[in-house]
Amino acid sequence: MAERIKSPEDFKEAAKANGISKVDSHNCSICGYTVGYQFSPNYEEVKFDHGCDCTGRYIKSPRTWQYVADDYNRQSSEKVIAEMNKFWGFE
Ligand SMILES: [Zn+2]
Repeated sequence: MAERIKSPEDFKEAAKANGISKVDSHNCSICGYTVGYQFSPNYEEVKFDHGCDCTGRYIKSPRTWQYVADDYNRQSSEKVIAEMNKFWGFE
């Protein structure tokens, strides 16, 4: 069983190890566009792609790996956590 609470570094390392360049967060409720995190090729930068302009802000906002970790750490559903573990390659 993997550690439940993960650090930003855990995600950065997992993204590097598994070649993960983006993480889908949710779909826009209006147009269905997949909104989520995107990582720079060297994994030093994290951005959040709002993707569409339904909310009036078609921008990529700077984020950090801490946001990615927080999104994971605040999950309470075992099912969601299991899916995320699979995605990130956490055992
Ligand atoms: Zn939209």
